[in-house]
Amino acid sequence: MAIKEFKTESKRLLDMMANSIYTNTDIFLRELISNASDALDKRHILSLTDDQIPANEPKIRIDIDKKDRVITISDNGVGMDREELEDNLGTIARSGSFEFKKDLSEKDEADIIGQFGVGFYSAFMVADKVEVISRKVKEEKASKWVSDMNGYEISSAEKDDYGTTITLHIKKNTKEKKYDKYLESSQIQDLVKKYSDFIRYPIEMKVETYDYKDGKSEKVVKDQVVNSMQPIWKKNKKDIKAEDYDNYYMQEYYDFNKPLKVIHYKVEGNTSYTALLFIPGQRPFNYYTNDYKLGLKLYSRGVFIKDEAKEIVSDYFRFIRGVVDSDDLSLNISREILQQDHQMGVLKRSIDKKIKSTLQSMLEKEREDYEKFFDNFGSQLKYGCYDNFGANKDVLIDLLMFKSSREDKYVTLKEYVENMKEGQSEIYYAAGESIDKIKQLPQMEKILDKGYEVLYFTDSVDEFLTSIIMEYDGKKFQSILKGDLDLDSEEEKKELEKKNEENKDLISKIKEALKDKVSDVRLSSRLKTYPVCLVSDDQLSIEMEKILKQMNQEGVKANKILEINPDHELFAALKKMSENGEDISEYAGLLYDQASLMAGLELEDPAGYALKVSELMLKAIK
Ligand code: ADP
Repeated sequence: MAIKEFKTESKRLLDMMANSIYTNTDIFLRELISNASDALDKRHILSLTDDQIPANEPKIRIDIDKKDRVITISDNGVGMDREELEDNLGTIARSGSFEFKKDLSEKDEADIIGQFGVGFYSAFMVADKVEVISRKVKEEKASKWVSDMNGYEISSAEKDDYGTTITLHIKKNTKEKKYDKYLESSQIQDLVKKYSDFIRYPIEMKVETYDYKDGKSEKVVKDQVVNSMQPIWKKNKKDIKAEDYDNYYMQEYYDFNKPLKVIHYKVEGNTSYTALLFIPGQRPFNYYTNDYKLGLKLYSRGVFIKDEAKEIVSDYFRFIRGVVDSDDLSLNISREILQQDHQMGVLKRSIDKKIKSTLQSMLEKEREDYEKFFDNFGSQLKYGCYDNFGANKDVLIDLLMFKSSREDKYVTLKEYVENMKEGQSEIYYAAGESIDKIKQLPQMEKILDKGYEVLYFTDSVDEFLTSIIMEYDGKKFQSILKGDLDLDSEEEKKELEKKNEENKDLISKIKEALKDKVSDVRLSSRLKTYPVCLVSDDQLSIEMEKILKQMNQEGVKANKILEINPDHELFAALKKMSENGEDISEYAGLLYDQASLMAGLELEDPAGYALKVSELMLKAIK
């Protein structure tokens, strides 16, 4: 019989598993038990539609043979045939989750193992040899898979009933690590309690207990179910401690962090159900990738129906994890029908509503937590608002927050409006890459001086959102980098008009010099310290142009306007120059380049700009 090689990645994972001394080796049991439980689920589901698969009493069994240093974990689930043994155990199953870097530190390894769980291979954390004997339902023959980590062998085997038995040959103690404990019944029992208590199937093992007879207690060894089986969401809320929820969540979702919020509730009525939902404490590392799996599980009367139950929660709440256990879904309908079932729609509306009201109340009463939540998942809510042409904006708009210039803290739109200055009719915002960059924009100075609050739009979706939501509480969104700001008094406006008129000639000379670059040049009251700035007209903004460029939509350009500060010395100097009949076109170009740089745009000719600035420096120094 040939010894087969593991695939390269599997081999690496195995080595990692066997050698990482910091890793919590205890989790091997949780992983194997949860595989067994999955196998029992699968058998159950198959048996609903296939008469040839006998219903059985699902069970997981653990046996320990201390003398031979062996522990076995058996289940009577679906089992695997020869091919499946080869496919499932010969390669690493979760390879999708792993980004194999060249040099992982021990800490990285521990993180990978702890966070994702590593399934079956975790057996090699505690065993130097593993045997799997499995018989698939409806198959006559069983097969055996054996590995000592260097490779594996598959052969035929005998097995009386369907299911899988995994035998671990426990490693000898080393200086760093004691493996003997995995041969102690009481220790294994503790691990089951700790990690696998809510597994819905009985986990049975021999346990030492005391029998009371005639007033005397006698030590006996008995088969006993060691897990409580009752899923946590079915328990009475008052019997559940906060740490029970945390533990459940952390095990179920392989999360190092506690959940930020637990939502455990029951609905009775037309559609009755119990839900245990969690808002994660941290955004999953793969949240914005295709790898991210929606974390809602659907049960019917405690029996597992499906993972990733998309049809029972809106996409904009896809950060929610947890379980929904319905009393009313009939089990033997196929999954396709399930999706269309109108009861699913009812469930979804009810669950969405609960999530929304929970978030709303966090916002009002647990602001700090809400802000943490928003840091992690706020963008999701904004996309939710934007999606489908704003179909859900009314549901979500009051859950949004933006950082603002008032204290650099989050404010809601409602708070912004309540805090508006007398006479202010628009919601001011500035879009940019980061708060720091926005603060440096030449346009910020004056508006802050005048005492207006400005929302910092640092998320790429933010400004696009304003094209969908348009206004809040009757107040329009207005970019301080766009169009006409209307900050001035009537008098000031007249004054500016006059200045524009007086300097008509100069302005049109500048315009002529920049005619390929800007659509207009004008004097403006928007500026204080800086001589110029770039703004756009009311359509596409410069920031949107940048974002679209990143998305490879190069052709879409903002309509740019160069605004000049008439009170700046530079303007006076230019004016003088022009009146003396000198050519100002080169200086116009420099002004435009400066404004572009401040707007975060790339210069068309950076080298040319540098040359011109050097020339000027030389003139000044001479
Ligand atoms: P995962 O559970 O994440 O898929 P594992 O490495 O733990 O990864 O297992 C790989 C596959 O092997 C499982 O998806 C399952 O198909 C199969 N498997 C593992 N243990 C059992 C078992 N006890 N009974 C039946 N199939 C199993």
